[in-house]
Amino acid sequence: MHELPVTQSILQIALKHANEAGATRVEDIHIVMGELSSSVDDSVQFYWDIIAKDTLAEGATLHFRRVPAEMQCQACSEKFRPNDEYLCPKCGGAQVKIVAGEEFYVEAIDVDK
Ligand SMILES: [Zn+2]
Repeated sequence: MHELPVTQSILQIALKHANEAGATRVEDIHIVMGELSSSVDDSVQFYWDIIAKDTLAEGATLHFRRVPAEMQCQACSEKFRPNDEYLCPKCGGAQVKIVAGEEFYVEAIDVDK
């Protein structure tokens, strides 16, 4: 499980932001999570409740926005949903790359002053 370090980095970002803003409490944290990201939001929430305890971010609500996976053909630039073969549905090319769905980052933090 690698959600713990991921969750710790979210907490660090949130606390840094809260300190810079002179906040007394972190209320909401908006996290973008790609469909292909191997992190699981339930696990992040689980660790969050433990590590955020006794910090400004204790009790903050985590919001997860899922980004659908998308691939792009290197040959014809067609963008498509990943399929089983990982082949371009337009030209059949195998030179495809993942262009969306692997994201994992903090999009926004709402604090209370
Ligand atoms: Zn193609």
